[in-house]
Amino acid sequence: MCWQLEQLVSTQKLYTKTAAKIERLPKADQNALLKFIRDFRLGINYAREFVDYLIDISRRDGVTISKQLKDPTVIQIFKENKLAYSRRMDLLREALRQKRYPYFYGGEEGPWGPVKAGGGMGLMREKRARKAEGLKIKTIYVEKEVQDFEVTNKVLEHFKKTPVKYIDSIKEVIKKYQHFGEGKQIVTLAKQKGRWLERCPGTREHLCCNYLVVNNAINCPFDCTYCYLQTYLNNKVITIYANIDELIAELKQFMDEHINEHFRIGTGEFTDSLALDEPTGLATKLIELFAGQENHLLELKTKSTEIDHLLGCDHRGKTVFAWSVNPEGIVRSQEYGARSLKERLKAAKRAVASGYKVGFHFDPIIFYKGWDKDYAKVVAEIFKAVKGEDIAWISLGALRYQPQLKEIIEERFPHSRICLGELDIGEDNKMRYFKPIRVEIFQTMFQAIRQHSKDVYVYLCMESPDVWAIAGITNNPANPSARYFKFFKKGAII
Ligand code: SF4
Repeated sequence: MCWQLEQLVSTQKLYTKTAAKIERLPKADQNALLKFIRDFRLGINYAREFVDYLIDISRRDGVTISKQLKDPTVIQIFKENKLAYSRRMDLLREALRQKRYPYFYGGEEGPWGPVKAGGGMGLMREKRARKAEGLKIKTIYVEKEVQDFEVTNKVLEHFKKTPVKYIDSIKEVIKKYQHFGEGKQIVTLAKQKGRWLERCPGTREHLCCNYLVVNNAINCPFDCTYCYLQTYLNNKVITIYANIDELIAELKQFMDEHINEHFRIGTGEFTDSLALDEPTGLATKLIELFAGQENHLLELKTKSTEIDHLLGCDHRGKTVFAWSVNPEGIVRSQEYGARSLKERLKAAKRAVASGYKVGFHFDPIIFYKGWDKDYAKVVAEIFKAVKGEDIAWISLGALRYQPQLKEIIEERFPHSRICLGELDIGEDNKMRYFKPIRVEIFQTMFQAIRQHSKDVYVYLCMESPDVWAIAGITNNPANPSARYFKFFKKGAII
């Protein structure tokens, strides 16, 4: 690090992280930023905020930071040296935010998309996607405690050629593999010692839909740029809990205790429900369990097409197969290793032919120029593949993430530009699109869906009550799916 940056860090005028970001820039931009910080006497937090805006604009528009700082508005604010410091900072913030969020400030949608156009990245993406296809598991670790379990034997049989190591505790593996990408090639079979069933974590100040999640596995072999697990988990390896008899017993007990209620219970919150299901055999057991009761629904949520081993199950309508969907361009550029939209919809068709209801999750929806046409096309393709009456629900969720995910995405997926969209810190401290943009997204999607079906149940995932209301999302209370949804603000007693 250059001495000027070091000095600013040592005198606590610059965060180490901000200095590191500046250090990665071309020399001319580094110098321009150092001058900018000095000239405006930026405090540590202003420097962090303004440097982030400038770097994002530069990445998005391909304009150097030196050029941005020659903007007449910035120069004018600098000249206003009689103004109070806080007033100057407000003006500067406003000027930079207008450039960073042009659409929110009433301008045109920028021409930028979720990936940088051209530049050879297309080819690189394709190569990575092909490489990720199929499972490339390098090592399987087995906790000695579960070495004789049925699930362990099945998984080892499935991955016969993969080296196996026996360990005393998963803690050894967690310590060894600290990088998320590396962890995608490691499977650990372990004993679940905590709770199998819990309420979906939801998010502060936003509505929860009363979903229950099963902790049967952690992480998955796909690699989505936006995957929230990258900041949510300490454990970076794919972990499959092998003591599933205890899960079945806990679920049975839950069903007995909640005999007069209706819950949706799913395995797809901390993993993909089906990407690794065939080797474990869990879904078959769950489908049978749910078929034996009346009130609750099992949801198997996936971006895979591995459903054929489940089509013959006697499900009695108590299981819903659900696919996360996105336009094909987003699938190719942001969802490595996952199946194409076309393949997912073909699988949905096969599920319907076997009498299952299906669900679709537009989550995360990415907002970019032309997003509406791309997403409307996906809606039309869904209704071409399956009839409205075979769809149990469709959810809509706009891109959102913990602020620290941005750096991870930039490091692991340098081609991805999803974080350069118009996202700012939300009420739940997550990065979210501005409310008017979210409202526009949901209104547009809701209308596109209603053009195909007046009845299909539509809900928003982790949204605020006012966005629900302004976007006008409504369902017929007589819809058979409605009984499985009970909305409440996180933290409220239900
Ligand atoms: S499929 Fe789901 S769990 Fe797997 S990487 Fe993508 S977002 Fe994460």
